[in-house]
Amino acid sequence: MGRYLTIEELHTGIAAYVYALRFDGSDGHLMNEFFLREEKHVCSTDEMLRCADFNFNCSQKCTRTQYLIDMFNYIRTVAPKRGFIEHQQKGGLAKCRFYENDIGAISSGPFRIYGIFMGPPGNKLFIAGDGGLKQTRTYQEDPWLNQQHEIVSSARAAILNAFKSGDIGIERSRNGRSRLSQSATKMKIQI
Ligand SMILES: [Zn+2]
Repeated sequence: MGRYLTIEELHTGIAAYVYALRFDGSDGHLMNEFFLREEKHVCSTDEMLRCADFNFNCSQKCTRTQYLIDMFNYIRTVAPKRGFIEHQQKGGLAKCRFYENDIGAISSGPFRIYGIFMGPPGNKLFIAGDGGLKQTRTYQEDPWLNQQHEIVSSARAAILNAFKSGDIGIERSRNGRSRLSQSATKMKIQI
């Protein structure tokens, strides 16, 4: 695609570090764009029917926003404190899901934020991309979600190349948690 991304450190906690990808020249990182887009969303008449399938109530502000709040809190507070552990679901509706090749998602109800999980099991860091509302059985059936998944996959491949060339690495923080080396946040990733 020939686009450049940078990695920003977002949240650090006693159990995990959280990062986000940002396209060069954009106002915010991808996860921020996700939340801004979803927060502004007003359900159309057609969507209201879909929302009813999810038991969301659109009569005022769609109740799907509760899932976003849980997702935000999970990424900002719960996961940095407890770590990214699959199927853990304490303190809200959000949880993390590991797919293949370090790629995974934070899910909260039908919402997904795709990203890269790196580091040893039970001590993973997360590099967040963008996501959206998953209304199809698989993300591949939804062009937007498929594209977001591809972006994080491409970013992962570029990051692995940077590991191999020694430009960046995963190191241990003082409390023993996996973090990206400082050089990672200064690097431009081409995808
Ligand atoms: Zn709705």
